[in-house]
Amino acid sequence: ASSYFTLGGPSLLQDIQEVLYSEETIQNKIKELGETLSREYEGRNPLVICVLKGAFIFMADLVKRITVPIELDFMAVSSYGAATKSSGVVKIIKDLDVPVQGRDIIIVEDIIDSGLTLSYLIDVLERRNALSISVVALFDKPARRTVELEPDYRGFEIPDAFVVGYGLDYAEKYRNLPFVGILKPEIYTK
Ligand code: 5GP
Ligand code: MG
Ligand code: MG
Repeated sequence: ASSYFTLGGPSLLQDIQEVLYSEETIQNKIKELGETLSREYEGRNPLVICVLKGAFIFMADLVKRITVPIELDFMAVSSYGAATKSSGVVKIIKDLDVPVQGRDIIIVEDIIDSGLTLSYLIDVLERRNALSISVVALFDKPARRTVELEPDYRGFEIPDAFVVGYGLDYAEKYRNLPFVGILKPEIYTK
């Protein structure tokens, strides 16, 4: 168990029903993903794009495990607001700083649910003439898909549940948990 649980004081932990993926489980998976990406992108110089905000911790841990030279950039899109279901509306809140034309792109996502956010992003990057686009998602909920989309690299396939932690929020909270878990049901009805 993480020493996180033994830290004193008022704690986010009292809102957590169950830890689904421990810090160690997540880090082991990211090491594997980094090794795979390093092999596949050998001799290239991909542009790694973090989809804010949810993927920021995954991005930071993943790029440390990639051994080929990369550049990185960030993009923010809105799809959920404070709700736990997608509105189907995707909007670019923060665009990339660099052009993607002719670049090998790796999109880093925290979780794929309906697939709407990613299919929109892929479309945007294709229209900007990226050379190649692949997607790495830490979590995938294939049962919830409303558009056809498969990540090229995936951490964990998870059942249909709303998870928080390790970058993932509920109403902007819980991103700073080092593990991924589910909230107590009463949190949603507050
Ligand atoms: P999609 O467009 O695939 O439906 O959803 C994409 C985004 O919704 C994800 O990148 C993530 O930010 C958010 N999301 C989807 N499922 C979950 C979940 O179980 N927990 C949290 N906190 N966010 C989620
Ligand atoms: Mg996301
Ligand atoms: Mg969110």
